[in-house]
Amino acid sequence: MADTIPLSFPVFDGKENFYLQKALSSGLLATNGEFIGLFESNLSMRMKSHQAVVLNSGTSALHLALVLLGVSPGDEVICQSFTFCASANPIVYLGAKPVFVDSESDTWNISPELLEDAILSRLALGRKPKAIVVVHLFGMPAKMMEINAISEKYEIPVLEDAAEALGSTYHGQPCGTLGSIGIFSFNGNKIISTGGGGALISDDTQTISKAKYLSTQAREELPYYQHLEIGYNYRMNNLAAGIGIAQLERLDDFVCKRRQINQRYRAHLEEFPGIAFQPEQAGSSSNFWLSTILIDENLTGISNKELRKVLDEEGIETRFLWKPLHLQPIYRDAPFYGGNVAEALFSKGLCLPSSTSLNPEDQERIVHIIENALSKAS
Ligand SMILES: *Cc1c(COP(=O)(O)O)cnc(C)c1O
Repeated sequence: MADTIPLSFPVFDGKENFYLQKALSSGLLATNGEFIGLFESNLSMRMKSHQAVVLNSGTSALHLALVLLGVSPGDEVICQSFTFCASANPIVYLGAKPVFVDSESDTWNISPELLEDAILSRLALGRKPKAIVVVHLFGMPAKMMEINAISEKYEIPVLEDAAEALGSTYHGQPCGTLGSIGIFSFNGNKIISTGGGGALISDDTQTISKAKYLSTQAREELPYYQHLEIGYNYRMNNLAAGIGIAQLERLDDFVCKRRQINQRYRAHLEEFPGIAFQPEQAGSSSNFWLSTILIDENLTGISNKELRKVLDEEGIETRFLWKPLHLQPIYRDAPFYGGNVAEALFSKGLCLPSSTSLNPEDQERIVHIIENALSKAS
C-alpha cells in the first residue's frame, strides 16, 4: 500500500527552528516576546497600507472584527452562506443574528445581486444590517468591486474573511485589504500554519490599536490591573509568531506550488465531460489553497461521493466542499436569500489533495485513479 496522501499538509522547511530556538532561549513564550511585533510588521509589509494584529485564531480575529464594527446583541449581520461555520459563529457569540446569502457560480462566493436584495429586504423590515461578511472560498477572490459598491451605497462595512486567501490578489490588491477589516487564519491546514493563529488587518490606526487592546484583556496602562471594558485573551503567543515569520518568508513559494498543482489537475481532468473547476475571473489570482472539482454525475456516471470512496480506498484524502450554512442544523432558523447555487456546488464538489509538498509523482497517481474511475463510469 502506497503512502497516504493528505488533503492539505503544512511544510516547515524554512527558518522555523531558528526562530523557535530563539524564542525558547529568550524565555518569553507568551504575548510579550519580540516575534509578535516582527510578525505583524512583516505581514503588514505585504498588505499595502494596512497594519496587522496577530491573534490566536482566525475565529477570534472574526469575533474581534465584529466587535470593532460595533455589532451588538439583536443586530443582524449578512454572511455568505457557502463557507465554514467559523465565518458566522462569532456573529452568534455577540448575540447578533446572521442573515445568509447564496453564492454566484462565477467565483462560488457571495452573489452581489442577492446581497443587494437581502439588504433591501432587511431595510424594508426596518433592520439595517450592521456588517457584511464576505469569504474568498478556497482562496478564490469574491467580486469585491461589486460588493464594495453595494457596501458604500448602503453604508454597511465589509468584513473580509480571507482565512483561506492569504497570498490571493484581486486586481493587484492583496485579499484581506479590500474591505473595512480583513482576517486571516494560520490554522493547521491553511496555506501557512503557526499551529493555531490568525490576524486582523486594517488601514485604520485606531482599529488596530483597539484590536491590540481588546485582545489582551483590555488592560489599561496603569501600574495595576484596571479594566474599563470587557476584553479577550486572543493575542498570538511568541512561539507561534516565530513560526509565522518563517512561514511568511516562504509564502510566495507556497502560492506558486499550489497554483502549479491546480494547473496540473486542470491539464488532466478539464477535458472530461462533466468535470469543472472553480473559475478564476480576469483580474483575480487565487492562491488555490485547495484545488476543487465539480462532478456532474449525469455526464460522468459517477458522483462525488463515489469518487471520494475510490480515492479513500487508495489512501487519498479528499473532502466535500463546505456545506452551506443555511442548510446547517444550527442555522435552521436564520433568514436566507438566494436559490440553490451553493447547495448544488456542495452536492457536486470535491476538494482534492493540494498540499504544498504534494510531489508530481503522487499527483500523477491521484490523477490516474480519477481518470480510471471516470473512464470506467462513462
Ligand atoms: C479556517 C477558517 C476560519 C477560522 O480560522 P481558525 O484559525 O481555524 O479559527 C474562518 N473562516 C474560514 C473561511 C476558514 O476556512
